[in-house]
Amino acid sequence: MKPANALLSAAGTTIFTVMSALATRHGAINLGQGFPDTEGPADVVQTAAGALLDHRNQYPPLTGLPELRQAVAAANKRFWGLDIDPDAGVVITSGATEAIAACLMAVLNPGDEVVVIEPLYDTYLPVIRLLGAVPRLVRLEPPDWALPRQALQAAFGPRTKALLLNTPMNPTGKAFSPKELAFLADLVQRHDAYAICDEVYEHLVFAPARHIPLMSLPGMAERTLRIGSAGKTFSLTGWKIGYISGPPALTAIVAKAHQNLTFTSPPNLQRAVAAGLAKDDSYFDGLAATLAAKGARLSAGLARAGFRPLPTQGTYFVVADFAALGFPGDDLAFCRHITEHAGVAAIPVSAFYEGGAPTHWVRFAFCKQDAILDDACDRLARLFAPPTLFAPPALTAAG
Ligand code: PMP
Ligand code: GLN
Repeated sequence: MKPANALLSAAGTTIFTVMSALATRHGAINLGQGFPDTEGPADVVQTAAGALLDHRNQYPPLTGLPELRQAVAAANKRFWGLDIDPDAGVVITSGATEAIAACLMAVLNPGDEVVVIEPLYDTYLPVIRLLGAVPRLVRLEPPDWALPRQALQAAFGPRTKALLLNTPMNPTGKAFSPKELAFLADLVQRHDAYAICDEVYEHLVFAPARHIPLMSLPGMAERTLRIGSAGKTFSLTGWKIGYISGPPALTAIVAKAHQNLTFTSPPNLQRAVAAGLAKDDSYFDGLAATLAAKGARLSAGLARAGFRPLPTQGTYFVVADFAALGFPGDDLAFCRHITEHAGVAAIPVSAFYEGGAPTHWVRFAFCKQDAILDDACDRLARLFAPPTLFAPPALTAAG
């Protein structure tokens, strides 16, 4: 038989699935894949349940239910001061994952270049390449994740069609600063490019850090597509409702991508997300404050167990250095080791790089109940308590 698609045939299973499966096999606490272990707001879930029962279960409009598009536009204004047209400037998708693919489809032609910043979310490169476009990778490195300005300048060129930016950033927990965003906005404008902004963690930012959409910078609104995710904003990651906001000239083309990918997303979930986005400020502030406390709790526990956790400004994640623990393998081996021997799963940070990445950093998710976080830290502390030795296996009598 003729070979199937070469890129997809060569691709491995995502690290999130690999580590979750390993966690299940070993009955481990799963601090790998980022999903909360408590339900999102009960009123939002109740709205979805009610919305299944009132005879509005047929195809919703292509770009999303009007009430959700209005709620997305209102949230853009309320939180970020952005003016978005609810009728022509919003497209509702099946999760941010679809939204990312739809935005890339909307702006890229084969051969176009896209500037992307490592460490990066695992769908970016495959989708860019499946579209025949060319990623230009620029790398942030731990421990400070500083923006390499020269490398960025060099990555932009006459073929640059877009910048794909994730802030607040998975896995680093970095919220890009006003100066960094201004630098990027200037590059995008000087090269007459588009910006595709993955802002799924927009509401998961910890004071004094602040989320600033690149779209809010002068000159950016007309060339930016901004992506949000109800999964993250309402701690309901299985819902897969995403939203894209942008200038109507661009979102009209995004809608055509969406029409060919999924066409619509479940109307009951759309109605519930519309209600959720209208919740008062205390909900959004509470979400960020709760996660900030969990991040601090996990970081303190990891430090007690001998890791060096990096500061996190947002998201579900903290990155920690395990070099001081003396483990003799790389980050993937380390993640397997702690899953099997401590019963705690994590994600190797090198999985977010295309190769040649630093290999002594791991990402832990802290969107879990406090008792679970404490238990995970105790398990790690026990595993690495002296006098653990990583001696080679003893020779058997036969050996
Ligand atoms: N982008 C980033 C950076 C993410 O971490 C995630 C989380 N899964 C997504 C996109 C996808 O979001 P969704 O679950 O809404 O598809
Ligand atoms: N965004 C989640 C994470 O980074 C995982 C999503 C997925 O499993 N595809 O952990």
